[in-house]
Amino acid sequence: QNNLNERVILPYNKDELYDLSFNINELLQRIENAIERKRQFTSDASHELRTPLSTLKGTLEVLIRKPREQSEYEEKIKYSLSEIDRMTDTIEQLLLLARLDVNSRTVDRSPVPLPNIIDEILSGQKKQILQKKLTIAFQKGVLLEEMVPQYYTQLIMENIIGNAVKYSKVASTLHIEITRSGPNVICNIQDEGVGIKKEDLDNVFKRFFRSDALHHKNIPGNGLGLSIAKKAADAINAEIHVESEFGEGTTFTILF
Ligand code: ADP
Repeated sequence: QNNLNERVILPYNKDELYDLSFNINELLQRIENAIERKRQFTSDASHELRTPLSTLKGTLEVLIRKPREQSEYEEKIKYSLSEIDRMTDTIEQLLLLARLDVNSRTVDRSPVPLPNIIDEILSGQKKQILQKKLTIAFQKGVLLEEMVPQYYTQLIMENIIGNAVKYSKVASTLHIEITRSGPNVICNIQDEGVGIKKEDLDNVFKRFFRSDALHHKNIPGNGLGLSIAKKAADAINAEIHVESEFGEGTTFTILF
């Protein structure tokens, strides 16, 4: 709307302009990094889905080639269905991560007592806990009124408690403890499980990361759980820390 012939005088001196261009460069670098992270994520996600899809295709092609025994049909179809379930889980988790990326404000942030959330998750995991003969040592103390935002806390605890159960050794104990330090509510989840190698500790929150050590043990998973927990923690300014002794067990600490 200004007269185009009018000279524009920028309200900056030389040093300020230098700072400004430096900031712009830094911003551009950050945007480039973000784009690269997204590219990597898309490529990892496609890979993660393409592998089970080709296995599934192979299985079905074998079945259709010539008539088979009824039992072989049943076995191969059961296997295919479980692969489809696994892929559906992965897609659900990818959608959840995408939603967490835009930090949707529509989710339920109503405060609920932390012990209630943990009790609910433990009863949801009852079957796996019984199968593994785990003892649950849950110390709620007298802190029954400790309140945390429902939706995000559920995501954090579901993934961390789920992992603790999944990676625990048979007939071991899972310790859960809630304490308070100043304004912070602290929750420790300590398992006596397979543990995490030192060199893997920095990677466990990365999308699709799974420790190599686990593949040999046939523990199912897709490496997305902890990145979901981390995103959820960021959304409510909570922190997640992890300590582990490979072969001995792992402790996750969540600071609300
Ligand atoms: P998933 O469990 O589906 O592989 P996660 O993102 O939840 O994916 O965890 C990433 C990796 O971190 C796991 O594959 C495993 O190597 C390691 N990990 C997470 N929690 C534990 C735990 N409680 N004990 C041992 N290893 C763990």
